[in-house]
Amino acid sequence: MTADIWDVVIVGAGLSGLSAAHLLTKRDAKLRILILEGKDRVGGRTVSSEIPAADGADRWDFGGQWVGSTQTHIMELIKELGLEVYPQFNVGKKVLHMGGPTSKVRSYRTSIPALSPLVLLDFTQMLWKFDRLCRTVCVQDPLRTPNAAELDSMTVHSYVEQHAWTEELKEQLGVCSRSVFGVEPSQMSFLFFLMYAAAAGGLLALLESSPGCAQEFKIKGGTQQLSECLAQRVGWKNVRLGSAVTAIWQDGEWARVMTTGDTFLCRAVIVTCPPHLAAKIQYQPALPSMREFLTQNMPVGHMMKFILTYQTAFWKEKGFSGEIVAGSSTDCPFCVTFDATSPRGNPALVGFISGREATLWSAREVKSIGAEDWAKEEFSGGCPVNVMAPGLLTFYHPSLRKPCDNATLCHCWLEVNLDASNTKKEEHSLTEHRSRTTSKEQRTVLSTFLSRRV
Ligand SMILES: Cc1cc2nc3c(=O)[nH]c(=O)nc-3n(C[C@H](O)[C@H](O)[C@H](O)COP(=O)(O)OP(=O)(O)OC[C@H]3O[C@@H](n4cnc5c(N)ncnc54)[C@H](O)[C@@H]3O)c2cc1C
Repeated sequence: MTADIWDVVIVGAGLSGLSAAHLLTKRDAKLRILILEGKDRVGGRTVSSEIPAADGADRWDFGGQWVGSTQTHIMELIKELGLEVYPQFNVGKKVLHMGGPTSKVRSYRTSIPALSPLVLLDFTQMLWKFDRLCRTVCVQDPLRTPNAAELDSMTVHSYVEQHAWTEELKEQLGVCSRSVFGVEPSQMSFLFFLMYAAAAGGLLALLESSPGCAQEFKIKGGTQQLSECLAQRVGWKNVRLGSAVTAIWQDGEWARVMTTGDTFLCRAVIVTCPPHLAAKIQYQPALPSMREFLTQNMPVGHMMKFILTYQTAFWKEKGFSGEIVAGSSTDCPFCVTFDATSPRGNPALVGFISGREATLWSAREVKSIGAEDWAKEEFSGGCPVNVMAPGLLTFYHPSLRKPCDNATLCHCWLEVNLDASNTKKEEHSLTEHRSRTTSKEQRTVLSTFLSRRV
């Protein structure tokens, strides 16, 4: 065991862990905080790497990248850290390709895709239903949503099967599920899906790149800088890379946090790794059964992200924005692409292979530069987010925010999973993590938890 005693040990140096450390340091600079990170870098599911580009080499994000102006916490953090954003390029025609390789490729310029009159009617009625339901969802307490149990007992697939009239629209909603969550519509609770969309301000706001939407901006120089700057603020000496936590033993007074080489004694532990990885840590005493069940039942999506660099942005020259939405198949594995031309002007497209196709492609021996399969990345094991299976949200929701009984342990992810407010739009995912760890509610959770411990 190391001789030091820490006030707080934080597991994970992604945005959640580093934000929590930053927040605590701002609250009390004297706190002794240690961050243990399994990877050999900070940033977790955000990573920015250099690859060959038209003018030599340039940097792109291979993990989380988009932020939006309604996501006020992440925008404040970006400003506080002296970073800058730039808008997602979306000028020109978009392309829609549904129905397999022989079907027609269509282009359009608005938020609403170019569809046949029947599919357009179907799209409009479904969007109306989704948005009406989203408005009834109580993001902070989903149990207060009218018909919560019924909505939570369905998957997105079963709702769509009941309410969509056309196969083409069903295929498109499958693309939404894959491109936002990395899972098939049959794998996710419909209430969870609604809650996520409601937190973003509605379904279109979740999918679009126009002002106020989820894909509005990117960070110049890459998103990983957020974590690097935060690590700088909390002090690199307090961040131990290559230190995967294997066990957390607690008694009334202390917690012992174990890695393969060391044991750290502390008064409080904050676990910020995603639920499926938090479940792999050995806890003594065991976590309360409600919490245990939660961490074991929040599957993570499967998404591969790729960047294709070019000598010229030929799509712009031909009046296209670079946005392609495609019904994935073995002939066309990706579900969506966007323009990814860098701030320095190096032309590129970014795309995603998600859900079932990602699993199929992941099994292939493909050598590539410019692609990241997050399911194979140690200490991530999938992306972009964890979802909830049917029944979990309504049955286990009360255990989401409660610190564990012994109270030396605070699961950041679970404490604040539902921290997006329904009065103020706050996006989930990257931003949610930021908003989670800085919002009033999260501050309260951390303060209450730590005032008892530190
Ligand atoms: C391809 C991709 C695209 C995405 N796109 C977007 C986007 O455009 N916008 C958006 O808002 N979000 C996006 N996201 C999601 C966003 O990146 C994540 O929600 C966010 O980065 C999660 O931050 P976190 O700190 O909570 O978790 P993580 O980043 O997962 O951090 C957890 C940390 O814990 C570490 N860890 C795990 N287990 C252990 C252990 N046992 N011991 C020690 N350390 C451990 C991990 O290595 C990791 O560093 C995307 C994610 C991916 C991968």
